[in-house]
Amino acid sequence: MKNQYIFVGNWKMQLNFDETVQFASEYYDDFVSLADEHSIVLCPEAISLYPMTQMFKATNVEIGAQNCSEHVVGAFTGDISAMSVHNVGCKYCIVGHSERRQNNHESDEKIARKIEHLLDYKVSPIICIGETKKDLDAKKVFEVLKKQLTPVLEKISQNSLIADYLPICIAYEPIWSIGTGDVPSVEHLDTVFAFIKDLVQKTSIKLNWRLLYGGSVNKENIEELKKINGLNGFLIGNSSLDFQEFKKIVHLGSSK
Ligand code: PEP
Repeated sequence: MKNQYIFVGNWKMQLNFDETVQFASEYYDDFVSLADEHSIVLCPEAISLYPMTQMFKATNVEIGAQNCSEHVVGAFTGDISAMSVHNVGCKYCIVGHSERRQNNHESDEKIARKIEHLLDYKVSPIICIGETKKDLDAKKVFEVLKKQLTPVLEKISQNSLIADYLPICIAYEPIWSIGTGDVPSVEHLDTVFAFIKDLVQKTSIKLNWRLLYGGSVNKENIEELKKINGLNGFLIGNSSLDFQEFKKIVHLGSSK
């Protein structure tokens, strides 16, 4: 029986093509057995998606992309379509990661369009939202999250054909927590998760929402973080690049 939590490894651009294939091959059996018991999604860089989906084809390990285009098809050099993400065998796709929002100036509307296309191809979006330290200090967390989620939820509400089994993941990732070792208190996270849940429940259609936490998750803090009310999983960056650490997180995070 699979545990309710989903564990997503965001490998970012930390491993090149050769290193990705080497890492996945070296721990192939371990990833496969981990995924027999838990929901595991690995998100390598785009060029490694095809070998990864092929390698894990007959297993429970799911592969996710880290981004897709806001366009369906056309003259968009360098973009990767949601259709290709689907064709290559990905079941998930991260969208709106803060690194893309910051480095590639991605707006909430652009992110909403990406989600629309992913849903058309039955790829589960992992929608990243989160505030900066400045927003946190100015007590603007809810305002920021509402602004980020509103166009997304509107787009999703307009799509009455979304398969109800399709997980739609929202990953709360405070930007000040990503890669820093600083994590919010469970008290803070409880209020944020309740807020997100409330926003999501106001959408007109009933869907398979999954709420994730991301930001400096490691084997030391996972047992505290799993106390968050309404939590369905974790988005894990640095700690997913060390298999033993990742495995420990999955085991500690899933134990009662
Ligand atoms: C991330 O960037 O999605 C992330 C969660 O990173 P880290 O775990 O390294 O903070």
